[in-house]
Amino acid sequence: MATLPIDSRLSAGTAGFITQTHRMLIDGRFVAAASGKTFPVYNPATAEVIAHVPEAEAEDVERAVRAARRAFDDGPWPRMTPSARGRMLWKLADLLEENLEEFAELESIDNGKPLTVARAADVPLAIDMFRYMAGWATKITGSTLSLSFPGDFHAYTLREPIGVVAQVIPWNFPLLMAAWKVAPALAAGCCVILKLAEQTPLSGLRLAELIHQAAFPEGVVNVLTGYGEGAGAPLAAHEAVDKIAFTGSNEVGRLIVKAAAGNLKKVTLELGGKSPAVIFPDADMDRAIAGAASAIFFNHGQCCCAGSRLFVHQQVFDKVLDGVSQIASKIKLAPGLDPACEMGPLVSEEQFHRVTSYIQSGIDQGAQIAVGGRSGAERGYFVQPTVLIKTNPRMKVVSEEIFGPVVCAEPFNDDDLDRIARLANDSIYGLAASVWTRDVSIAHKMARRIRSGTVWVNCHNVFDASLPFGGYKQSGWGREMGEEVIQNYTEVKSVTVAL
Ligand code: NAP
Ligand code: MG
Repeated sequence: MATLPIDSRLSAGTAGFITQTHRMLIDGRFVAAASGKTFPVYNPATAEVIAHVPEAEAEDVERAVRAARRAFDDGPWPRMTPSARGRMLWKLADLLEENLEEFAELESIDNGKPLTVARAADVPLAIDMFRYMAGWATKITGSTLSLSFPGDFHAYTLREPIGVVAQVIPWNFPLLMAAWKVAPALAAGCCVILKLAEQTPLSGLRLAELIHQAAFPEGVVNVLTGYGEGAGAPLAAHEAVDKIAFTGSNEVGRLIVKAAAGNLKKVTLELGGKSPAVIFPDADMDRAIAGAASAIFFNHGQCCCAGSRLFVHQQVFDKVLDGVSQIASKIKLAPGLDPACEMGPLVSEEQFHRVTSYIQSGIDQGAQIAVGGRSGAERGYFVQPTVLIKTNPRMKVVSEEIFGPVVCAEPFNDDDLDRIARLANDSIYGLAASVWTRDVSIAHKMARRIRSGTVWVNCHNVFDASLPFGGYKQSGWGREMGEEVIQNYTEVKSVTVAL
């Protein structure tokens, strides 16, 4: 194989990992795809191929599912003490922490995000997730119940692992999405097959090495690289998989639901969003402006909860628009590994075309560009941070998820909270929202009126392992993180004993 271009800013360790022959983790061993096929991995800042990874297909899925099934049905993992499981998760977190810088570099070169962001957000949040879920391993409990059925009974519930879980993740936070999925499933005692996103497999493959190093029993975690159709679809359809947990587009979410119908496996979905940020005239303007900009531009708008619909009270609309536009125009676009980078390229050529064609469709439907609107460099998948005005709910840019650094700003001239909430709720999605005001009463009233899984007040994109995250409406089924996700990886059993 020809030598691949390696960015000279990468540390020797990271470069060494990227250039090694990549293998998937199946049944405790690192293996190539059964077919021997591989597919390329790109650096989105240069559009160059930087690695090749195995292309898993049905046969590899079969091996991984069989391994996970064996590990769950006969292996030590679900039978291990909760304390021992928790310690293994904690050990994995420690290993991640020891390699924080390498993971940050991998995220940056593979996904395109600024190294500084990966270092401060993606990797530490993934570490936190493993530690938080390590704590849950010893706190999964049932309850005792007093029955009214005639007779004398001792009744209680047991909370047991759901079994073999398939997990399919996207590319926007590659390591963090892996942590959101794997950590709670393992804490609950499940065994997993994780399929990484085709665009960003590197950090997940490195995580697989650490899982191996931490000495998790064989087959407890299997990590596959492959395409959605070739590897994701057979996982979703597999008869021996008890649950599938998916994060990604609504389109694929529907395919997952259909595929899961065969054996009626449990399904959780974390899907798209079109999250509103609502700014009231009494808000702390500096915070609100910086917050609204960061709500959409963080991670290049490639967040399911990106604040992509900005509603601002007429009284302060010009001020906010001006402030957000100024921030947008100053954001430094550069490769993620460039120390000056504030926004990197989008993840792939496909996303580049998708986002730029959305911007064009907005213009075609009568929207105006306040700032941005163009690609941001000669090569690589850069798109300028963009603010659209004169939009309306019938435009695709307002109703559909763009998943890029594009916000639609609209004024509202109203003080009725029900009507303002109706604007915010005018979407098939219900993932998240932010409300910006100094009035505690407005804040809490809006928090109740908005129909989404998360409402932030005077902030946006605040995540914590303890906070459940997920969607109302078409933004998904079930929750990630917090105690709620443990429920999504366990079954409840009622035990009734006649005394
Ligand atoms: P996607 O197609 O939904 O991909 C998500 C994951 O599902 C990937 O691992 C993908 O594999 C896999 N997949 C694709 N087809 C599948 C199938 N038939 N069965 C099982 N798994 C399958 O998302 P995308 O193509 O990366 O992005 C498209 C749009 O989805 C974005 O523009 C954005 O609007 C939305 N999105 C949302 C989120 C979110 O967090 N809610 C995340 C990413 C994208 P491949 O890697 O081969 O695609
Ligand atoms: Mg896809």
